[in-house]
Amino acid sequence: MASHQKVDFEKVVDRSLLNDYLEFLRFASVSTKNAEYRKELQGAVKWLVKKLKEYGFSEVRALGLKEGEMFVDYYPLVYAQYEVSKNAPTLLFYGHYDVQPADEQGWVSDPFVPTIKNGRVYARGASDNKGRLFATLWGIKRFLESTKNSPINIKLIIEGEEEIGSKNAPRFIREYQDLFDHTVLFLNDMTRFKDTPTIVYSLRGVLYVELKLFTAPKDLHSGTYGNLVLNCANLAGYVVYKLKDIFRNRIRIEGIYRYVRRAGKDEIERLSKISDDWNTIKETTKAYVVTPYKGARLKDFAPMHLVSLLPSLDVHGIKSGSYEEGVVKTNIPHSATIKFSLRTVPYLDNKKLKQLLKAYIEKILKKFKGVKYELRFLVDLPYYYEDVNSGYMKQFAKVVEDVYQQPVLLVPNGASVGMVGFWRQIFTDKPILIHALGSYNDNVHAANESFSLEDLYYGALVVERLLKEYSGKKQ
Ligand SMILES: [Zn+2]
Repeated sequence: MASHQKVDFEKVVDRSLLNDYLEFLRFASVSTKNAEYRKELQGAVKWLVKKLKEYGFSEVRALGLKEGEMFVDYYPLVYAQYEVSKNAPTLLFYGHYDVQPADEQGWVSDPFVPTIKNGRVYARGASDNKGRLFATLWGIKRFLESTKNSPINIKLIIEGEEEIGSKNAPRFIREYQDLFDHTVLFLNDMTRFKDTPTIVYSLRGVLYVELKLFTAPKDLHSGTYGNLVLNCANLAGYVVYKLKDIFRNRIRIEGIYRYVRRAGKDEIERLSKISDDWNTIKETTKAYVVTPYKGARLKDFAPMHLVSLLPSLDVHGIKSGSYEEGVVKTNIPHSATIKFSLRTVPYLDNKKLKQLLKAYIEKILKKFKGVKYELRFLVDLPYYYEDVNSGYMKQFAKVVEDVYQQPVLLVPNGASVGMVGFWRQIFTDKPILIHALGSYNDNVHAANESFSLEDLYYGALVVERLLKEYSGKKQ
């Protein structure tokens, strides 16, 4: 990606910071396999606490962790702050110290022994999230070194459970809400769009649902009872059919589209220009691509719009009756489980969606008097949305453009970031700024994950520049 100047990033990089980053990558801080990596996670936390103190943060703590305590139930949040005054603006930065396992085939070097090749650092976590985190730390360091008396407060939270769904994050955020008080939250996260400087202004939420159906206390024989009793597998099929119209590509939950944020003409046009087209989707997936729903407004929508600004519903599993190979029992199943999720979008909040869904399921099943069902919500993550025309976002876009000397793309993303969602739930009115840092070449969550020193540098510059903006000291 590039800026117009030619820069040798190996020369530009801050040596001692690079060494810290490489040292940090040596911790196999894998959160997905509990006991096996506990010592490494503990080591990473201890190391971080020590380093952040060295970097000049005045208060550094592993939140929720008592002295000498083992990590049993959760991995703590590392918190650091540099406070100058209660009245000064506060920039809060987020990152995570846990990583995915590195047991895939194809690593050319040890995933926990970082190596630098052609301006890229190779290791598990090199990009996600240790590289992005060190870009942030470098930016803070540059700012503090260039500013004698910082006029703003800087806070940092580094989570240890991002890769396992930020299970304890909501509890921590609530418990330490006062400590985390801030003006804006900033993240170096997500992946740059088409290798162009990118700000992500919208993320979808998730509502993961499990629906259990019961039509009888036990399975019955179809030779004896076929035509006489309701088959639960058939009923499950009917419910799935009622959830989404696959011809019109439209969710059937009544009222759902009424709450969706409507993109303006400008936004629709802007997204159409940068979105992949339908042929690209066909070629990359080799799948049966659902042509856009032919509703009045939607005909102009590009794939990016459908995947990020409209809710989607996908069934992930259906279980009922016998499903072994070959001829199986001719039973009439008495129960069925359907697992499905909804990706929610700006303005369609999960609380509302739950109400709509409950009412809709009840309406469908009311026709079958006596049928029992259980509806459970297993994951509940809110959407994120920041108005691109707000003062915060305009200032942020200018910062990014100044750093890269290129126009920035404002992109909505169809995925969900747990922490961002929780954060939005608790600090409802505080802006969240997401600078997409890293490229698709980073192989995040895959073999030979890497991060370019160029990104380390630009991530740091964005942070430094943002801190200066908030200090009222424009360059
Ligand atoms: Zn990850």
